[in-house]
Amino acid sequence: MNYRMAEEADTGVSSRTERKALEKAKILQRESERKIFRLVGRVLKKPEAERSEEEAAVLLLHKDTVEELSKRKVRRNVLKRKQEEVFDDAEELRNKVRQLAVAVKQANHLVVYTGAGISTAASIPDYRGPNGVWTQLQKGRAVSSSDLSKAEPTLTHMCIRMLHKENMVKHVVSQNCDGLHLRSGLPRTALSELHGNMFIEVCVACSPVREYVRLFDVTERTSLHRHGTGRRCSHCGSELRDTIVHFGERGTLEQPLNWRGAAEAAEMADVILCLGSSLKVLKKYNCLWCMNRPANKRPKLYIVNLQWTPKDDLAELKINGKCDDVMSLLIEQLNCQVPVYDRAEDPIFSLATPLRPEELDSHNREVISTENKPQDNSADTTGQDTAVQGGWFGRGYGKGRKNRKKAVL
Ligand SMILES: [Zn+2]
Repeated sequence: MNYRMAEEADTGVSSRTERKALEKAKILQRESERKIFRLVGRVLKKPEAERSEEEAAVLLLHKDTVEELSKRKVRRNVLKRKQEEVFDDAEELRNKVRQLAVAVKQANHLVVYTGAGISTAASIPDYRGPNGVWTQLQKGRAVSSSDLSKAEPTLTHMCIRMLHKENMVKHVVSQNCDGLHLRSGLPRTALSELHGNMFIEVCVACSPVREYVRLFDVTERTSLHRHGTGRRCSHCGSELRDTIVHFGERGTLEQPLNWRGAAEAAEMADVILCLGSSLKVLKKYNCLWCMNRPANKRPKLYIVNLQWTPKDDLAELKINGKCDDVMSLLIEQLNCQVPVYDRAEDPIFSLATPLRPEELDSHNREVISTENKPQDNSADTTGQDTAVQGGWFGRGYGKGRKNRKKAVL
């Protein structure tokens, strides 16, 4: 008995020692690998003619490392190219828009998909462009922006609305939460706001869901998985929630998401025009792309975006231009007039439910009114813009960033 215990103890000690030795060996191996990588990397940076015999021998000795490093370089370059903004020159742009105009005219059922790129001219930064929210957050930089409710529909929004009125566009599917399509006058039946609308809060306790359109950003206090806005339904008293769908959430509200409208539109589409979207998120929604059909039976894709998109290879035409530039050329090609946004005609004012007197101080966001004019670019010039925290714009990043800031202070 005693003998066995001693043996077990002995084995325990020896296996622990072995394990430690093994770990140490692994660490040493990793370290020596890192050294080799650094050495080979240094040699590779030199032009071939300047390498000494010794250095050339290093490369020959570590062929695998040389191969791995050059693979990494290729991957880095591809990634870099995908993030770069590319601009077609004026001549090319005109040619491409001419082709687009033909497609628009010939289409039986043209559906438009839009992303943040169509709102950049309205001083709303995009997500994945070089100065986009996502890119900035990836780099650990703070994101601030002027009050988003000051934004107004852009030329692109107005052109889309006009093309719908002329029966050339049948439906618009947007990932933007800025409400600008609605404010351009596009009828709600022709619109799917897949990720919600920052001006709309709803009571899901009421049946059917009761909707409250407001004249301010209702998402001030909401974030990922926390959608309560703090205000209450005037019919049943339940807390209202915003309509925003954050990354990692699944949107189930019928309106303003209107998934049914989006799916029906995609099903019937023969041409899809994608404007200002990286398509990285839209790509994941299978029903938007008819991928269950053979390639030649799918709708033809026309993509307008400055950066690479995962659908570029499948596109009939990729236009590397700003949405407003492309749309104004397109409208010219179609012999139409570019409509101008008129605040007095903005449907949000007739859709809105006024706050009850006791709710008036339930938010701190700017209220849009028919009178006040937006101050252009105040964010860039005065630097006194509101840092956007939480709400739809922070997209769940806000919390982490705030905490980090506190920790530093
Ligand atoms: Zn209710």
